Amino acid sequence: MTATESPTRPDGTPIDREALRRKYREERDKRLRPDGNDQYLRLAGGHLAHYLEDPYTPRTERAPLTDHVTVAFIGGGFAGLVTGARLKEAGIDEVRIVEKGGDFGGTWYWNRYPGAQCDTASFVYMPLLEETGHMPSEKYAHAPEILEHCRRIGKHFGLYADALFHTEVTGLEWDASRSVWIVRTDRGDAFTARFVAMGIGPLHVPKLPGIPGIESFRGHSFHTSRWDYDYTGGDPYGAPMDRLADKRAGIIGTGATAVQCVPHLARACGELYVFQRTPSSVDVRDNRPTDPDWFAEIATPGWQQRWLENFTANQTGIGASQEDLVKDGWTDLSRRVNAKIMEIPPEERSLETMLAAYEDSDFEKMEEIRARVDGIVKDTSTARNLKAWYRQLCKRPCFHDEYLHAFNVPGTYLVDTDGKGVQRITETGVVVDGREYPLDFLIYASGFEVGTEFTRRAGYEVVGRDGERLSDYWADGMRSLHGIHVHGFPNVFVVQPTQGANLISNVPHNLTESGRTIAAVVKHALERGHTVVEVTKEAEDAWIELLLSGRGRMIGSPDCTPGYYNNEGQDPGPRARLNVGHPHGAMAFFRHIDTWRTSGDFPGLEFR
Ligand code: NDP
Repeated sequence: MTATESPTRPDGTPIDREALRRKYREERDKRLRPDGNDQYLRLAGGHLAHYLEDPYTPRTERAPLTDHVTVAFIGGGFAGLVTGARLKEAGIDEVRIVEKGGDFGGTWYWNRYPGAQCDTASFVYMPLLEETGHMPSEKYAHAPEILEHCRRIGKHFGLYADALFHTEVTGLEWDASRSVWIVRTDRGDAFTARFVAMGIGPLHVPKLPGIPGIESFRGHSFHTSRWDYDYTGGDPYGAPMDRLADKRAGIIGTGATAVQCVPHLARACGELYVFQRTPSSVDVRDNRPTDPDWFAEIATPGWQQRWLENFTANQTGIGASQEDLVKDGWTDLSRRVNAKIMEIPPEERSLETMLAAYEDSDFEKMEEIRARVDGIVKDTSTARNLKAWYRQLCKRPCFHDEYLHAFNVPGTYLVDTDGKGVQRITETGVVVDGREYPLDFLIYASGFEVGTEFTRRAGYEVVGRDGERLSDYWADGMRSLHGIHVHGFPNVFVVQPTQGANLISNVPHNLTESGRTIAAVVKHALERGHTVVEVTKEAEDAWIELLLSGRGRMIGSPDCTPGYYNNEGQDPGPRARLNVGHPHGAMAFFRHIDTWRTSGDFPGLEFR
């Protein structure tokens, strides 16, 4: 095919590009709303705070701490675990992880809804497999195995001894006279730490939709990240939810979470009503158990790092010529786009023709996904409503082999709201388009706060050198070196992808690299007797300048149907232009950071 030939549907018929673009715009416009992120209810601290309670682990009382540690890490998810592990490997013993949940795991501690599993191949998604000697049991491991793996890392690296669970940090303050951070928590702790690292996670504050009447519902209700197995029966390991056979259930939301739990609810509930505002694109999952013989062959020394790099190279497009070791939905997506670009004769390749090829590849993929719906869902009107009309990366792509089938289960109904969302919630049910659906219980699969300020999501302020507040320093957008070091905030490290490799489909790769970097910096400081390490203003400014020399954000287009990828369709303002990564892509960043870290000089950091 040349660049001017039409892309085609799976049945070979040509796709009318302009008609499809028009359809995408119409569907987006239906969903645009002026309140953007404000349509959601904030749970923390308000009268809906009970939705945040931990249903999994009882809280135990303990005396407040006023001692001192070398490193405090805020957050006990993957970020804290991989950084903690690297610090321990570097010989740093006093590492205290402070975690609001009742155990390690972060996302995997909270999200125990039935059917939860990773969407990226376990071999790259689950960190430190080689170090802990674990073989994932499936290509896409289920949540209990991932949570157990978090505990395995915690035990293997001795991170439990100093950990504080069910503890929320309320404030961080730099004490320049002693060169320590004072860490205050909701348990009355006020301990000190020479270094503090923060890995609070991008999606950890559940949100509820601001639907009128939501507080009036008298049936049972919970958010998917606080699954109430006492009510539903069953367990996260897959035991059937045996208390729902006579129940009428509703679930609001059809994102990645709902896609995984709806099939289980469909099997268990007397009746299930799935309230949909925007359909997800649901591609093939094709999960399978791991063959131990195959694993023994691939798991030679250094295997996971090789796989991580191979995945990221393939997924970010620069490794198209390499063998695809991982072969999951993400690498497939990128490789298709690349293949389409390669069809353009070299002399005709320009940014414009390459973007056009990308769009064609996207049209074809989405037509395939829409055709899949017709192939599975028997009721034609339900099938029509389950089709996603937007480019694939406008919303989080989903992969599942049972979600669409769930709508063939007798008693399972899709209630499509034609982009408008649920109209009202009453004492007894949910209203859409004037019709009430009476329900015994209601599940909110409504996602998590994204795009709000760091300190709001963190739940505490960071007060650095000369009393500077992080929320003020970042008021016009994030500023850092490598997404880790912030000028004016000595001995602090931020663990997250922005301003580093940026968002890739395998965030644990970002986190593992950050963990290595932080361990190297802390080790260097301790070995040489330095008590303070801080990025210089010049180095931070130069890094920001480099970041801004790139093409900017690749996802989050205003042309997309609204969602958290594009700030709910609202202009994210000038701050967002700083939410970028290395201008030459993730692999360029990983190469840069490896050289920077191993040079032993840590250019841009000042050790005092
Ligand atoms: P999302 O934010 O993706 O989905 C929320 C859902 O609630 C959307 O379908 C949204 O509709 C819907 N909704 C919101 N308000 C209303 C309303 N008023 N009426 C009707 N529907 C409404 O949350 P998820 O928990 O599904 O996923 C969050 C993220 O977590 C994912 O994007 C993914 O990154 C991660 N995740 C990862 C998994 C994995 O790797 N295994 C599994 C699950 C989640 P609309 O689309 O119209 O806004």
